Amino acid sequence: MTDESTADVLIVGAGVIGCLTAYYLAKAGIKVIVVEADAVASGASGTSGGWLTPYSHTNDPAMLALSSKSLSLHRELSMALPEETGIDHGFQESPYLRCAFTEYGISELRSWQADRAAEGNVMEWISPADIKQINPWITAEISGALLSNSEPTLDSYRLTLSAMEASEKYGASVVTGRVVGLTRDGSNSRALGVDMEDGSRIAGGAVLLAMGPWTGIGAAWIGSPLPVTPQRGQLVYLAAPAAGEGPELSSGFSAIERSGSVIKKRLTDNTVGSTREHVGFDRSTTTEARDQLLIQVAALSERVFSARISGQTACLRPITPDGRPYVGRAPDWDNVYVAAGHASEGIHYAPITATAMANLIGDGTAKIEISALSPERAGSQWSADGNNTDQ
Ligand SMILES: Cc1cc2nc3c(=O)[nH]c(=O)nc-3n(C[C@H](O)[C@H](O)[C@H](O)COP(=O)(O)OP(=O)(O)OC[C@H]3O[C@@H](n4cnc5c(N)ncnc54)[C@H](O)[C@@H]3O)c2cc1C
Repeated sequence: MTDESTADVLIVGAGVIGCLTAYYLAKAGIKVIVVEADAVASGASGTSGGWLTPYSHTNDPAMLALSSKSLSLHRELSMALPEETGIDHGFQESPYLRCAFTEYGISELRSWQADRAAEGNVMEWISPADIKQINPWITAEISGALLSNSEPTLDSYRLTLSAMEASEKYGASVVTGRVVGLTRDGSNSRALGVDMEDGSRIAGGAVLLAMGPWTGIGAAWIGSPLPVTPQRGQLVYLAAPAAGEGPELSSGFSAIERSGSVIKKRLTDNTVGSTREHVGFDRSTTTEARDQLLIQVAALSERVFSARISGQTACLRPITPDGRPYVGRAPDWDNVYVAAGHASEGIHYAPITATAMANLIGDGTAKIEISALSPERAGSQWSADGNNTDQ
């Protein structure tokens, strides 16, 4: 085995979780190999909406406690990664409007606003008279809206790519190939590396499974349940209006009574998202999804029908039964770790996950409270007939 195929840490999967963990480890002087079956950012990390809403897990204290820390790390990365690699990943502090059509919607938004204020997040109430000035894309008659001034957006493809490129500058490398198992030392509690589909092996002092929605196959490798499953999400891209074609999109928006949202991006076209479909590992786009997404948001903005559709993507969210990712050491293993299952928030929570994993693997302690995310809980969430007991 050559020196190139040996590392202190092997990371399986070059999505945002794997690449950012590689970044923090490599920056700390630890030799990392990232093993990727396809290409860097070829999974959901390359085609996500890239919206870092701080409010997605407001009913889960374990995740909420990590939300603002992860956003702070994103702000640091938005400065550091472009300096280290020359790649701008389009981070920007974007405003976002949550609209309500009905009195019921207004009262829901008011109660939500009060909860956020209790957490220290102040939002502004926008009256129907002011809404079209704040965001001329809202063409519907609505009863009111809440304006949040900072819900950052970024291009997750460039974020993941630049994290890997910076890692390589700090000595990490990427090997292309599919991992099919762990190389064991006989005792079953330590991995010696990973087994590759072509029959070769890569040796490593520790192994991190960060395979997104494919992480469930790792259950057979570690010999205990790892119920991570795929959920397809489709996005439609809308080109910015050309001169004379109408106003620019000034903020993201959605309605509390309906699914669907429009997200404002800096480097790419704006996105309309997203579907939640259980179709296994099928990553095709469908015309039904495109129509459904546009019709949903057209209830707020007829402009979506006159905007030029510049693309449509489909990718897979990694889903766990309780909606929390698995982050920590694999049960009964000394040196095998898991970081997967971030569902709709993998980009948002990637920096805090990666920091915790780099600390845990590098220093033996995560230094961040992640015990609620431990993979140990997977055993009680998976029934022997293969059905998630929580769903
Ligand atoms: C439509 C949509 C919109 C989204 N929008 C947002 C958003 O706005 N904000 C947000 O925070 N999150 C969003 N997400 C969620 C986010 O994209 C994911 O949670 C995140 O990208 C998961 O990252 P990951 O690194 O765990 O997995 P992935 O990006 O899926 O990466 C896993 C990698 O592992 C590789 N791999 C798999 N098996 C093997 C193997 N055996 N050997 C080697 N390599 C392997 C794959 O090829 C892949 O590259 C969205 C998701 C979808 C689907």
